[in-house]
Amino acid sequence: AKQDNSNPVRTFSWEMRRDFEQTIDLEKGLREALAGGEFLLHYQPQYHSQTGRITTLEALVRWNRAGVGLVSPAEFIPVAESTGLIVPIGNWVMRTAFQQLKAWHEEGLPPVKIAINISALQFQAQDFIEVVTALLRETGLDPQYVELELTESIAMQDEKHTLATLGELKRRGISIAMDDFGTGYSSLSYLKRLPLHTLKIDRSFIQDITSSEENLAIVRTIIELARILRMDVIAEGAETGEQVELLKLQGCFNVQGYYYSRPLPTDDMTELLKGAFKS
Ligand code: C2E
Ligand code: CA
Ligand code: CA
Ligand code: CA
Repeated sequence: AKQDNSNPVRTFSWEMRRDFEQTIDLEKGLREALAGGEFLLHYQPQYHSQTGRITTLEALVRWNRAGVGLVSPAEFIPVAESTGLIVPIGNWVMRTAFQQLKAWHEEGLPPVKIAINISALQFQAQDFIEVVTALLRETGLDPQYVELELTESIAMQDEKHTLATLGELKRRGISIAMDDFGTGYSSLSYLKRLPLHTLKIDRSFIQDITSSEENLAIVRTIIELARILRMDVIAEGAETGEQVELLKLQGCFNVQGYYYSRPLPTDDMTELLKGAFKS
C-alpha cells in the first residue's frame, strides 16, 4: 500500500526491500525446514458424488515453521520454485505421500489413489521419471495408484519433452491430471495430443457456478471437452450442495472441495478412510 503519494519512488523501494528481505528469510527458513523436518502433508479427498465414495486423496504440503507456526503454501511455494528448493521439497512430498498411501493400503483401507502436485522445475528435470520410479520402488507403491497434477503452463513449455515424459509416465501406469484447467492457454489441438487422464476444472469456475451463466457455460464446455477426448473430469473447490448437484446435472461426478472435506492431517484422514467402509 502506498502511503506517501508525494514520493512514490521511495515507497516503491521500501516495498522492494521488504519483499526482498522476506524472500531471503523464507529461503533460509525453507532450507532449515528440509533439514529439520518441518514439512507435513495434509490430504484432501476427492469423491464420486453418485456413489459417495472416496476415489483419490490430494497431498497438500504444509510448513510448520519453528517459532512461526503454519505458513501457507501460497506464500512459500513461489519462493521454493524461484530458489529451486521445490525439487527436494517435491521429492519429500512424493516419498511421504507414497509411503503413507502404501501404509493405508496395507491396513486394508479402501484402495484410493494419491494425487501429487508437480511444479514445472521438477517436471523439466532430466531425471524426473527416474526419480518417480525410484520412489515408487523404494516405497513399494503400485504406479496405478498415482496421479500427478500438472498445470497448463508446464505442458506449454517444451512440447517435445512434455509429450515424451507424459508418454513414458503413462506407459509406467501413472495417470496425469491437468490442474487448474481453464485458466491457461492450451490449444485444443495440443490438448488432444497430450496423454492426459483427467481435466481438473479450476476452482474459480466452480465458485459461482450457480449464479454466473458464463461460468456454468465454461464448466459445461470443459465437461464436454473431457467427454470428447475420453478423459475424466473433476471439479475442485466445491463448497455447497447446490454446486455438487449442478455439477451432477452437467455430468461431472468427481468432486473435491470443502463441501465434502477440507484437507486433513494424516490421523484424521485415517479415521475418515476407516469410516468409509461403514457407509
Ligand atoms: P491446488 O493444487 O490448486 O490445490 C487446491 C487448493 O485449494 C488447496 O490449497 C486446497 O486447500 C484448496 N481448496 C480445496 N477445496 C477448497 C474449497 O472448497 N474452497 C476453497 N476456498 N479452497 C479449497 P492449499 O493447500 O493452500 O494449496 C495451495 C496451492 O499450493 C495448491 O493449489 C498448489 O498449487 C500448491 N501446493 C500445495 N502442495 C503442493 C506440493 O506438494 N507441491 C507443489 N508443487 N505445490 C503444492
Ligand atoms: Ca492440485
Ligand atoms: Ca487446482
Ligand atoms: Ca490452484
